[in-house]
Amino acid sequence: MTPTIDARQLPDGTTINTDLCIVGAGAMGIAISLQFKDTTQHVCLIESGDLGPDEATQSLYDFENVGYPIRQTAPSRIRYFGGTTNVWTGRCLPLDAIDFEKREWVANSGWPIDYNTLRPYFQRAAALFKLPDYRQIQAAHWPLRHPYKSERQIFASPKLTPVVSLRRRTSLNFRTAYRQDLQRASNIQIYLNANVIEVEATESLNTIRCLRLACLNGLEFRIKAKVYILACGGLENARILLLSRHQNTAGLGNEHDVVGRYYMDHPKVEHGILKTAPNFNAPLLFGYRTLQGTTQFGIRLSDAVQRRERILNHYILLQPQFVWNGDKSSQGFGLGGKLRYFYRKLTQQPLRHDFLQIKNYLEQVPRRESRVTLSRQRDKLGLQQLQLHWQVGKQEAQDLYRFHGILRQCFQNQEIGDMQALTPGPEPLPFLNAFHHLGTTRMSDSPREGVINRHCQVHGIENLFIAGTSVFPTGGYANPTFTAAALALRLAAYLHQRVQD
Ligand SMILES: Cc1cc2nc3c(=O)[nH]c(=O)nc-3n(C[C@H](O)[C@H](O)[C@H](O)COP(=O)(O)OP(=O)(O)OC[C@H]3O[C@@H](n4cnc5c(N)ncnc54)[C@H](O)[C@@H]3O)c2cc1C
Repeated sequence: MTPTIDARQLPDGTTINTDLCIVGAGAMGIAISLQFKDTTQHVCLIESGDLGPDEATQSLYDFENVGYPIRQTAPSRIRYFGGTTNVWTGRCLPLDAIDFEKREWVANSGWPIDYNTLRPYFQRAAALFKLPDYRQIQAAHWPLRHPYKSERQIFASPKLTPVVSLRRRTSLNFRTAYRQDLQRASNIQIYLNANVIEVEATESLNTIRCLRLACLNGLEFRIKAKVYILACGGLENARILLLSRHQNTAGLGNEHDVVGRYYMDHPKVEHGILKTAPNFNAPLLFGYRTLQGTTQFGIRLSDAVQRRERILNHYILLQPQFVWNGDKSSQGFGLGGKLRYFYRKLTQQPLRHDFLQIKNYLEQVPRRESRVTLSRQRDKLGLQQLQLHWQVGKQEAQDLYRFHGILRQCFQNQEIGDMQALTPGPEPLPFLNAFHHLGTTRMSDSPREGVINRHCQVHGIENLFIAGTSVFPTGGYANPTFTAAALALRLAAYLHQRVQD
C-alpha cells in the first residue's frame, strides 16, 4: 500500500514531477485514476480535503448567490476525499439520445458527440458504480419481464416513454469503495490537503507549465506534469480556470468569455395531482425494490412528440399522497393506510392509491447569462469566491404547462386516471435546485461556443482536460453523474491511446 501524502508536511516550495496529474478525488477524479492503475504512467491524484470532513476546508466552497434562490440547507458539494459521493443519493441513469441532438427549439443545444459515442462507456460506468445490472436502467428490459397492468397501460401510449433510474441499496461512496484500490496501485500517489490555486500556462498559452498549490497552513508547492485533468466538480472547474490569470486576465481557456457561462441545474417542483382509476397498480413507478437496489420509472414525452411539439425534455415521478405531508387539502390516508402501503410495497402486492402527487424534473435551456463569476469575497486561501447567477427562464415553465396538458390527455385516453394539470397561474412556480451543476465548461467544436473540445481538452491547450458535469452543453433531466462518469472513462481511454501513439 502506498501511503497518502499529507501535503502540509512537504517542504515549502517543493516541485513534484509526474506524467498525469488529476485534480479532485471525487467520482470523476477517482474514476479516471482507476483507469491508470498499475500502468507505466505515474499519476498524482490531488485532493483539497483529507479523508474526512473538516470545516475550514469545506468553507473553501463558500459562495455568494445573486441569482434565482437556491436551497442552502445542506452543502451541494463536499470537499474531502470521495467528494460529493460522500453524501449523494446515488440515482443513476444516462442522458437520452435526444439530449445530445441539436434541437432548433432549444437555444445553444447540440453536443459535438452523440449518444452512440458514449454507449460503450455507459456499460463501463455501470460497473464503476457497482450497479447490479446495466440492463436494469434500460426501459426495454422491464415491461417485458414485469407485466404490471398500469405501467403497460401508460406506456401503451406512443406519446409517453419510460424514464428508468437505478439506485443501489446503499449509495456508492467512492471514498470507501475505491481508496484502498488506489493506494494499492504501484504508480498512483495521492496528495491530501492540497489545493490547486492556479493553473499556469506558458507564454504561448497552448501548454500548461505547472499547477500552483497551497495548503491551509500557508505552505505552497508546484506540480509539473505532462497532462493535467481538472475534476473538481461542476462549479469549481470553472472557478479554477477563472482564477488562473497568470497569462490572461480573463482566465484560462476564456478567450471568448465562455468559462462559467451556460450554467444549468435541474429545476424541480412538486405540482399536480393524479386521481387514479380503480385498481391502479404501478410498482415500478413507485420504486421497485430488490435486495440490490431500487429501480424507479418516471414518465417523459416520446422523442417524436418532443420534436413535433418543440418542447423540452422534462419528466415526472409519481408518489403516493399521504396526509402526513401536512397538506390539508390533499386526500391521502392515515397511519393504517401508510402501514398497508409499506406492507404491500414490501411484499410486492398491488399498490392502491387514490391520489398521486406529481414531482416534476425539468430540463433547462443553456443561457449565456446564467453563469458563475468571481465574487469580491475571498476564501481562507485568499482566492475570490464564486458568485452564482443561476437563471430559470420562462421556457422551462411554459413547457411544463404544455407537458402537463399532454400528460392529462394521455392519462385520460389510457384510462389511468384524472390528472389535475398545471395551468399558468399568477404566481411563478417555486422551483428548487437539484444540486446538479452543469455547463460551466461546456463541450463544443468551436472555442467561441465552448471551453473544451469533443475529447474534453480545453480548446487550444494541448495538455489540459476537464472531467465532470461542467462539460455538459445541455443537461436533459437525468441525474448527471452517470453520464459524466461515462465521459470521464472515455477521456481516460483517449489519453491511454495518446500515450500509445
Ligand atoms: C445531496 C446530493 C445528492 C445527489 N444525488 C445525486 C444522484 O442521486 N445522482 C446523481 O447523478 N448526482 C447526484 N448528486 C450530484 C453528484 O453528487 C455530483 O454530480 C458528483 O458527485 C460530481 O462528481 P465530481 O467528481 O465531478 O465532483 P465532486 O464529487 O464534487 O468532487 C470534486 C473533488 O474535487 C476536490 N477539489 C475541489 N476543488 C479543489 C482544488 N482547488 N484543489 C484540489 N481538489 C479540489 C473536492 O474536494 C472534491 O473531492 C447529488 C448531489 C448532492 C449534494
